[in-house]
Amino acid sequence: MLSKHVNANKLIRESKDKKSNHHHHNLTGRDSDSTSHPYGARYGITSVPKFHIPSKGVNGETAYQLIHDELSLDGSPSLNLASFVQTWMPEAANKLMMENVSKNLIDQDEYPMTQEIHTRCVSILADLWHAPSTHQAIGTATTGSSEAIQLGGLAMKRLWQERRKAEGKSIHEPGPNIVMGANAQVALEKFARYFEVECRLVPVSVESKYRLDPKKAMEYVDENTIGVYVILGSTYTGHYEPVKEMSDLLDEYEQKTGINVPIHVDGASGAFVAPFAHPKLHWDFKLPRVVSINTSGHKFGLAYVGVGWVVWRSKQYLPKDLIFELHYLGSVEYSFSLNFSRPAAPIIAQYFNFVHLGFEGYRAVAKDNLKNARLLSRALEKSGWYTVLSDIHRLKAEDILQKNTHNNFDEENPENYEEGLPVVAFRFSDSFQESYPEIQQKWVQILLRAKGWIVPNYELAPDLEQVQILRVVVKENMTEALVDRLLEDLVEVTEDLIKQESPTNALNLLGNHSRKTRDNAGKMDEDSGSAYSGTYSKPC
Ligand SMILES: *Cc1c(COP(=O)(O)O)cnc(C)c1O
Repeated sequence: MLSKHVNANKLIRESKDKKSNHHHHNLTGRDSDSTSHPYGARYGITSVPKFHIPSKGVNGETAYQLIHDELSLDGSPSLNLASFVQTWMPEAANKLMMENVSKNLIDQDEYPMTQEIHTRCVSILADLWHAPSTHQAIGTATTGSSEAIQLGGLAMKRLWQERRKAEGKSIHEPGPNIVMGANAQVALEKFARYFEVECRLVPVSVESKYRLDPKKAMEYVDENTIGVYVILGSTYTGHYEPVKEMSDLLDEYEQKTGINVPIHVDGASGAFVAPFAHPKLHWDFKLPRVVSINTSGHKFGLAYVGVGWVVWRSKQYLPKDLIFELHYLGSVEYSFSLNFSRPAAPIIAQYFNFVHLGFEGYRAVAKDNLKNARLLSRALEKSGWYTVLSDIHRLKAEDILQKNTHNNFDEENPENYEEGLPVVAFRFSDSFQESYPEIQQKWVQILLRAKGWIVPNYELAPDLEQVQILRVVVKENMTEALVDRLLEDLVEVTEDLIKQESPTNALNLLGNHSRKTRDNAGKMDEDSGSAYSGTYSKPC
């Protein structure tokens, strides 16, 4: 009988030549100092132990080459269209980061200039987001938006507790809750679970454009709501959630009930897009109800991974007991992040971008990204095979009129289109699904992967999980030439799936067959579409 499960590690262990089969802790089969060539094999190197530390190391060059070669199996970050995270910076930024790679941000006394740059970044963001006073605003760098979201949530929880205590009411029965759309990114759900706040997920629908519906959200708000998380740039489709409408409804609620429910804006992506591409949009500290905003410097802040930000509109929204005083020789510094040590280099990279790009530079990048996203969106729709769920390529109603009546209509101005992130979310069109009901969309992801592209096929948020979307995040390195290439590959892959006699068509059908067999056995169909990716929130 053939066994159903095979342990690859065991196979390798049992298949080795006897001589090298004994367990030893040496990385090199010989004296480690005898290996000077990176490819130690010629000099008798044995395998690197996977699960324990080698008792003797190898020289740096060899270690580099071994690890470098293993890592070449990773996908290429620049073809990773699944991620919002920036994968490229100019040479000058690389140099600056390397020069500062050993600095720890917490050592404020040792690195006062790094601290000064950190403070400048907070001020720049507070100003960009229209804080009433950049002196009153307070904020900090974080590892990313996730940490920033925990801090924003914690501050709101603490303010709610203080208010309840002052009113002589219980903070335990029934305890605090927080309201957000079911499309919320996992970091928001993490806050609720880690910091023991009931997570109230507002169902999303096609009508709400797969994001928070403010009217529906009001059904979930009560006196124990510490705040509402509103997402500027939904992870699924890139739609901005309507912050202004949410704020207006909460204003009405306050007038009626006297209960003040603040908003924290999760601007992980959008807080670095909207100020440049959609400057007229009302979403930031211009709305008094917005008490804090987070963003990821490593997304459209255009820095490498490792930097996020949270800013409060004014110090009064950051309760004092969340601020730690660090006493240095003769001076006091303040810390209110979750980590103690953290690399300073990504913050310096963020500041490099502010200085290097300026407002105009950021705007140019945002415009370019949106332009390339529009190009891809339109081409996909023209194919007839795909329906595009994101809307950034659709002119706003008033601008359709303008376009038809003015010759000098600016087609490149993102303000003429529906606001959103440079994200293209698409699926097989209804007519495609009718014509080819047997073709599964997940194969597009798999076949594109074979060509090097990473384009994820997700299930939509709870309530809409029957809808699957493919999603492309258009970043700075996604040039028009690459959009062109991606589209060609998409067309080829889809054609291949359609062709009756093609191997891909056969593979797709095979998948269908095994699925049906399980269905007949009365089991849940767990295999259709991609598995739950863990990127999005689930009801908690
Ligand atoms: C990416 C993202 C996060 C998490 O941000 P990190 O910087 O990866 O920690 C949170 N919310 C939204 C909307 C995001 O897109």
